[in-house]
Amino acid sequence: MSDFSTEFRMPKGCPNCGSHMMKVSQAKSPDDQVFCTSCNTEVCSWEEAERILDETPRSEAEQLIEDVMNNKKPPEEDY
Ligand SMILES: [Zn+2]
Repeated sequence: MSDFSTEFRMPKGCPNCGSHMMKVSQAKSPDDQVFCTSCNTEVCSWEEAERILDETPRSEAEQLIEDVMNNKKPPEEDY
C-alpha cells in the first residue's frame, strides 16, 4: 500500500455505503484500485473511474452553483 493517496469525488457512489468520496494512489495508474474513503471498499480501477468522470456531463462545481441558485431562487418566477 502506498502512503500517498489522493481523494476525489466520484459521480458513482460506493456500492457498499453510497459515499462519493474515493481515494486512489497519487500515481493514478490505470490499474490502480479506487477505494471508498468511508468503508474502504474497492470500488473500481482508476481507469474505470476516469471513464466515469469523463462521461459525467456536469462538473461538480457547476452542480454546486446550480444547487445554490436553486436554493436562492425558485425555478420559475411566480408574479
Ligand atoms: Zn463505502
